[in-house]
Amino acid sequence: MKNGFGDPAKYITHLHVDKDCLHLPYTQEIITRSGLPVEILSEMSTPNIPGKYPDNLTLGKHHLVLRKNRGAFFKPCPGTKEYRCCDYQVLNIGMGCPMDCVYCILQAYLNNPWISFFVNIEDLFTELDQVFTPPADQFYRIGTGEFTDSLALDSLTGLSRYLVEYMSRQKRAVLELKTKSDVIGNLDNLDHQGRTIVSWSLNSPDIMVAEEIRTATLEQRLQAAAKCADWGYRLGFHFDPIILHEGWQEGYRNTIKALFNKVPADRIAWISLGALRYLPSLKNIATGRFPGSRFFYAEFIDGLDGKSRYFRDQRVTMYKLIADELAKFVDSRTCVYFCMENDAIWREVFGFSPEDQGGLGAMLDRSVN
Ligand code: SF4
Repeated sequence: MKNGFGDPAKYITHLHVDKDCLHLPYTQEIITRSGLPVEILSEMSTPNIPGKYPDNLTLGKHHLVLRKNRGAFFKPCPGTKEYRCCDYQVLNIGMGCPMDCVYCILQAYLNNPWISFFVNIEDLFTELDQVFTPPADQFYRIGTGEFTDSLALDSLTGLSRYLVEYMSRQKRAVLELKTKSDVIGNLDNLDHQGRTIVSWSLNSPDIMVAEEIRTATLEQRLQAAAKCADWGYRLGFHFDPIILHEGWQEGYRNTIKALFNKVPADRIAWISLGALRYLPSLKNIATGRFPGSRFFYAEFIDGLDGKSRYFRDQRVTMYKLIADELAKFVDSRTCVYFCMENDAIWREVFGFSPEDQGGLGAMLDRSVN
């Protein structure tokens, strides 16, 4: 049995700040909270982390860089046209993560070993104000967990409080904070108005112990989720990536039982399922960094989006077992859905495709309205 690492922010031992954002009150707030000495980075300079990427990634995860986001904060999730995606919007709060999952796609997406966090949050909120300016008639589901974990550094940054309070005033949007930590302290005592969904990625206990380094244990994640439910938040859960391993059937069943033992089913807005898929370049990086890990040596095919996936029959077998187990407990209002699967798989496992119900985006919107 693994003991949780605790707050992943304590893995940060070096704080770097770009010179041009040192004056921002939010930067100063984080520096004070961290208690760490600060290295100021002049224009164009970067933290000096010995070694080459990705070999220096483990070391790099000790380093946090506070800087401005010079691009857009808000973008549509990069789904692909070949698979059903859910019309999600990404709010880009930073890049990289102090936790270390063997399958983490960021290892292949990013090419810096350090973690960046964007401190020009006034620009972030200005951009969101523009998005939400009437007469926008679209409903937005927004997540901060695309290029980082939403809460892993929250005890340092305190960003969740600003986001939750901002979102509480929005009528046409919800924010999803997605994490593998149990860092929820900042979510207490907020008037969130149901506009924030707190969600956890879950896996079979064996995968969580062996392949998700410095994350919270299953018990800790569920305990945190139960507390958020007590505080009135709706919840989300993501079985992603579903990984084939010895005893996977029992493993996923046990996680599902533990979930519904701990968390009230009627607080769950959505549950997603997604079998392992990865860019070919990730396999080399991950097996190089984690030579003891075996799951990348299963058989895969190349999907239409250029990612490797399990064979279709295998995916259907895994999805059916998990969907059947979920069906025993799930509330009728909870949206159970696939992340990035095709209509044939939807029909085979659930007996319908998203189009039959107005599209996946509309299904998810209904579950929070
Ligand atoms: S918690 Fe998420 S972002 Fe962090 S290492 Fe794991 S998969 Fe990557």
